[in-house]
Amino acid sequence: MQQPFSIVIHGGAGTILKQDMTPELEKAYTLGLESALLKGYEILENGGTSVDAVRAAIIILEDHILFNAGRGSVFTKKGVQEMDAAIMSGADLKAGSIAGVRNVRNPIELAYEVMVNSNHVFLSGKGANDFAIKRGLKLEPDEYFFSQFRYDQWKEIRDSDMYSLDHTHQDIAELMKDKKFGTVGAVALDQNGNLAAATSTGGMTNKKYGRIGDSPIIGAGTYANNKTCGISCTGHGELFIRAVAAHDVNALMEYKGLSLEEAMNEVVHHKLIEIKGEGGMIGVDKEGNVAMVFNSAGMYRGMKTSKGEHKIGLYKEYHQLP
Ligand code: ASP
Repeated sequence: MQQPFSIVIHGGAGTILKQDMTPELEKAYTLGLESALLKGYEILENGGTSVDAVRAAIIILEDHILFNAGRGSVFTKKGVQEMDAAIMSGADLKAGSIAGVRNVRNPIELAYEVMVNSNHVFLSGKGANDFAIKRGLKLEPDEYFFSQFRYDQWKEIRDSDMYSLDHTHQDIAELMKDKKFGTVGAVALDQNGNLAAATSTGGMTNKKYGRIGDSPIIGAGTYANNKTCGISCTGHGELFIRAVAAHDVNALMEYKGLSLEEAMNEVVHHKLIEIKGEGGMIGVDKEGNVAMVFNSAGMYRGMKTSKGEHKIGLYKEYHQLP
């Protein structure tokens, strides 16, 4: 019998409501998610590794202007883009993370380089940029990362002390006419039974002091372990860090015997809610079961499995694939 394989992706969670969308935007998000999903799935179908599948899916989302990762990342207080990313391999618990990186076209590739070509797990700031140059990664000028709607979002709050979650925060949401979300993540199980998880983000609009969210922190926003599951989170990073959200799902499965869905529900709908942590997460377990759980109004998400499941969702309900 063929080993099951699966991939699941997200493009951020938050106040994603149908009434705030235009049909064009809805279509653009759906197509962006679908192309990333299909690319990752194709790699798995051809016997590729879960690490390569999540990298490929994330690269497509990083290159897509609508998502808050790579091109199209949000602006910091200083008006630049500083990006965070992480990748983890569940087979050997190897991981690579980067934070506060600028001008690297695909931050996930830099995280991957840290995982496979350094003795470290986590690099930040200028040092991470130097490593990108050393490894010959593609760099782009500031203009490449620019997007008008992120710039407009930032203009609304740049003179305040507020930082915005790109996800909505009531008071901030009111300030932001245009609610756009978009940290990206991918989790996959390959035909060899290996899990991998990856997350990439521009973080939060107007962030300062070198703020780093949960996305690049192993165990908070990203985690994979072949014994249990792979997880990628999106939401208010500070709370996901405090909840050690991604690893907590693994722990509930490993030590308490919960299923993937039960463990994710526990973390997203109880543990995070208790500390007012808004957002969600995607996961795949070692049998290829997929879950996508969020406590926000919506989450950009999609899944495709060798068992024939194929879904894309933006809001609470799923919608018809084009
Ligand atoms: N979790 C990310 C952060 O706090 C933001 C997001 O998911 O959009 O940096």
